Amino acid sequence: MAKQKRRLRPWVLPAALFLIGMLMAGLVALGVWAVAQADLSGGQHLELKTYSNFYGGTGDTPLYTVCIDAGHGGDDSGAVCYETGRVEKDDNLTFALLLRQELRGIGIGVVMTRTDDTTLSLEQRVAIAESTNCDLFICAHRNSGNGVTGGVEIWIDDDMNTWEMFLGSNIMTRLEQVGIQENLGVKGGSAGEQLNVDYYVNSHTSMPSCLLELGYIDNVEDNSLFTRYQVQYAEATAQGIAATLDQMIQNGALEVRRETTE
Ligand SMILES: [Zn+2]
Repeated sequence: MAKQKRRLRPWVLPAALFLIGMLMAGLVALGVWAVAQADLSGGQHLELKTYSNFYGGTGDTPLYTVCIDAGHGGDDSGAVCYETGRVEKDDNLTFALLLRQELRGIGIGVVMTRTDDTTLSLEQRVAIAESTNCDLFICAHRNSGNGVTGGVEIWIDDDMNTWEMFLGSNIMTRLEQVGIQENLGVKGGSAGEQLNVDYYVNSHTSMPSCLLELGYIDNVEDNSLFTRYQVQYAEATAQGIAATLDQMIQNGALEVRRETTE
């Protein structure tokens, strides 16, 4: 007897198509997830190190204080990106507030030169840091150029003081770990034509200081990195500051500075 040709049941074909469809959707979802993971890997959160020596006898009083200066503010907008309307003074403040949070989280006291959109002179900024006897001074800015240049640079005094070199490179190394377009270096002096001229806040503060240029406000890639990684940049900067304070404490450099300035 000839074999009877088996006929597919009517539901088999739609069911198979449905299963294939589900499989395809699953693969697409997996691909999207993988891309998202790969994208995030650049902006990793740094491993948080704890520094017990930052606290006083009661266990909750910070022994060391950092002055955070959000560049520009109020009448002085700083650099402006005319295509997007992005204003430097706002990015500086956003970053400064995030940095304050990170530093407090690891037990470092913070003094802010401004916490809102206030106009402040350079003299006033320095006076705040000096009158509160801060241990370090960190000034946050964003750069501007020709729209093509991108990357992060950190300015210290032209004499390239050892602790400022440590401070700048400790921060830069960690920002690189998060992901920046280019490391433009830890540099002495200031941008511009004149050689050996320091930024006012660097040269007029008695504590080690540095001025961060957190990417170019007229560069698309730098702006997208800043927007995406601002929390991680603040974490990285806080960790760089903590590492520097730790080195200074171990070297007795903070006590020496305090004795000479008091
Ligand atoms: Zn600026």
